Amino acid sequence: MSTKDKEATCQDDYDPNSLNASEAHKRISDILPVISDSETVKIRDALNRTLIKDILSTIDVPAYTNSAMDGFGVRGIDLKTTKEFTKVGVALAGKPFAGQVNANECVRIMTGAVIPDGVDTVIMQEHTSNQDSFIKIVGDHKIGQNVRQRGEDLSKGAAAVHAGRKLSASDIGLFASLGIANVEVVRKLRVAFLSTGDELKNVEETLEAGQIYDSNRYTIYCMLQNLGVEAIDLGIIPDDPNKIRDAFEEASEIADVIITSGGVSVGDADYVKLILEEIGQVNFWKIAMKPGRPLAVGTIRNAIFFGLPGNPVSAMVTFYQYIQPALRKMMGQSIVETPSVRMKCISSLKKRPGRIEYQRGRITLNKNGEKVVESTGNQGSHVLSSMSNANCFIVLPMESGNISENSYVEVQPFEGLI
Ligand code: AMP
Ligand code: MG
Repeated sequence: MSTKDKEATCQDDYDPNSLNASEAHKRISDILPVISDSETVKIRDALNRTLIKDILSTIDVPAYTNSAMDGFGVRGIDLKTTKEFTKVGVALAGKPFAGQVNANECVRIMTGAVIPDGVDTVIMQEHTSNQDSFIKIVGDHKIGQNVRQRGEDLSKGAAAVHAGRKLSASDIGLFASLGIANVEVVRKLRVAFLSTGDELKNVEETLEAGQIYDSNRYTIYCMLQNLGVEAIDLGIIPDDPNKIRDAFEEASEIADVIITSGGVSVGDADYVKLILEEIGQVNFWKIAMKPGRPLAVGTIRNAIFFGLPGNPVSAMVTFYQYIQPALRKMMGQSIVETPSVRMKCISSLKKRPGRIEYQRGRITLNKNGEKVVESTGNQGSHVLSSMSNANCFIVLPMESGNISENSYVEVQPFEGLI
């Protein structure tokens, strides 16, 4: 598509150069390469990384049938005829009972201990009265209860974890349970990020009149950390076309992805799109969304370029909605979409049709204990505190107008975003 603007008929509500959200996702998808290089890391270092090949179980898990409870192991069939059992031994985790358990006999057995020959049922300790040499059972019990069967978690040869998974704490634990010490993951995506703006200062510096602290490099850094990529901080670049060009050239040499913030709009000092056009390609630069309409997407040589808007909330919203799924795709992850739920909204919301809106909300409990969502108030794209107070986005579709109190809306909980 040409990046030359058509004339907009109505500045805010309708802009013929803005893509709708699904078209923007598709256009981004179309230009993304998928990383196929891998590296082998210790399983603890694999958290948040992407598994490159299926991991097949080398063993049955559990490897032997064992007790799920502390109690007494019996032959289930005996329960039909007796409540009293003679104790013939003890089975501890790591110290099996070697003998055979016969009719009306039991063994004292602890959680995780191997089920001895003859035993198929475990009676919880709390359901017995326990004497030295025999036990009495209280209540009714099912044959086979409280026994974990060999291979019931995973059978040998089955896929334990599938390729494309962003590895979680439970995946790492599963590897450990299989005796796997190292796994092959997609190599870290190299993401260079920088802020543009003459007004920006680092947090260590003192502000002079008209200056502000650069917060975008902090939010972007943290959002990148959650994705398990290598985040390369290229600092603050002034609104100077030569310096911006130099920074973009450098970034394209060292990174797979370049993320900038600021300078992407139509202001006098907005050079990002111009430089991208000059040394790379602009795919598109506007999405019909609020906040965050200007989002420049393109390429510089082999690097994918995302120019986020400068306003702190816009930068975060565009990152979560477009950049995060894109980076996940590049890493070959199988799930890249953000999960959402429908929920009653107890605030009325202002909304104009013609663009998708991501308003900041808080999920709370109403007096009946039901989860409901409310607005965090001021939705200005410069109001970072409203992002900090929010725990979800309220997603209002393109065609939607104002939302009246107690309507159902789509909500993306932040917890689901990471
Ligand atoms: P721009 O897109 O460069 O026109 O910036 C839009 C607004 O966001 C301006 O008020 C900027 O001062 C502000 N802004 C731009 N970059 C940052 C940043 N890195 N941190 C905080 N605010 C920023
Ligand atoms: Mg600027």
